[in-house]
Amino acid sequence: MSETQKTVKTVKCPQCGAPAVWSPENSNRPFCSERCRLIDLGAWANEEYQIPTDKSEDDYSTGLESEEREFTPLRH
Ligand SMILES: [Zn+2]
Repeated sequence: MSETQKTVKTVKCPQCGAPAVWSPENSNRPFCSERCRLIDLGAWANEEYQIPTDKSEDDYSTGLESEEREFTPLRH
């Protein structure tokens, strides 16, 4: 009986440094867990989205109001 031991390839988790299983079963690879994947994703997103959206949000709400006013039918 030969040893058919599964050679599980592991990579270093970019987030916490723990060995992460590199296999189709691990949908979070190269991260060790979903948590690490989400943390890294969040950090990446924060760096990418540096556009201040506070102002545009205000404009949007006021824009809706004026639109509503314009939309009022001037029928008798
Ligand atoms: Zn990790």
